Amino acid sequence: MAAERLIDLRSDTLTVPTPEMFAAMVSAPLGDDVYEEDPTVNELQEQVAAMFGHRQGLFTPTGSMSNQLGLRTLVPAGQEVVTDAFAHIVRAELGGLAAQGGITTRTYDALDGLVDPARVAGIARPPSSPYLVGTAAIVVENTHNFGGGRVQPLVALQELRAVADANGLAMHLDGARIWNAHVASGVPLASYGALFDTVSVCFSKGLGAPVGSMLLANEDRIAAARVLRKRLGAGMRQVGVLAGAARYAVDHNIARLAEDHRRATRLAQLLAAVAPDVVDVTIVDTNIVLLSLRESRRSATELHQAALSAGVVISVLGPREARLVTYAGITDQDVEQAADILSPLLAPG
Ligand SMILES: *Cc1c(COP(=O)(O)O)cnc(C)c1O
Repeated sequence: MAAERLIDLRSDTLTVPTPEMFAAMVSAPLGDDVYEEDPTVNELQEQVAAMFGHRQGLFTPTGSMSNQLGLRTLVPAGQEVVTDAFAHIVRAELGGLAAQGGITTRTYDALDGLVDPARVAGIARPPSSPYLVGTAAIVVENTHNFGGGRVQPLVALQELRAVADANGLAMHLDGARIWNAHVASGVPLASYGALFDTVSVCFSKGLGAPVGSMLLANEDRIAAARVLRKRLGAGMRQVGVLAGAARYAVDHNIARLAEDHRRATRLAQLLAAVAPDVVDVTIVDTNIVLLSLRESRRSATELHQAALSAGVVISVLGPREARLVTYAGITDQDVEQAADILSPLLAPG
């Protein structure tokens, strides 16, 4: 039996602009951003940089680009970054750091993607030898996407900064969902910003803009990143139409992320009640619910098929891992209905 409308829980990138956001796009004052003359872009860059206590911002089409631009200003070709094995920069950017920046990654296994300062201290190796690859930067993802939306504890981030300082390393934040971390933890955005040399944030995830990310850093790094962005062919002209959407998102859509978090927790509770081996409510910090299907009758692909024919779309992460994500298009009623559909598929049987 096909549902009238699919409940699509694959990703918070599935949001489409609301009429209010479209209105903000249409009314945004525009100029040529390659000349740095788009007033909407310039205002957004100043506004978001100030929110994180950074000097400047650079609007980019995607978070993959802002991650890579930021890291290329911190890490010379032939050196490495240290991060966890499930980081987006390692798994989901098609080797861009290596292909475009000559940068390698060294990874460690982290529980739910949570940073482990002692592990990082153990494997980071500042440039010191004619043979060994030198570490130049540490990368943190907050919230951690493939870790199930977990929020990095502030204390661990502070310890990691101490490790970086003791070893002369820079720190980059992949903050695609830093807004979710901020709303869930109450930690001010500027407190996160203060710990990192470069920060990447996305407007196109839970904040609901159709396109857009931003790199935050000091003047020298932003100037360098601007050159690299242009070289990649992403010097954008009247891009205030997109910055207008991002501006609207930042002004209106941060606090409402708490609703997505509440709905994800509710969904996790309903599913854990019938399938405690599959869903661990205690690790649902934000808007992502991981499904661990190691003990299940169905593989992730089989679950996807069964759920799809019953009206729910899930995201397959691996043979036995899947993900459910809440966002502005998902209502309380959707959550109850999705749980009704998924529960019999997940229950041991
Ligand atoms: C979505 C995301 C990005 C950026 O993705 P783009 O599709 O390139 O905008 C970066 N890091 C994390 C953790 C993400 O979830």
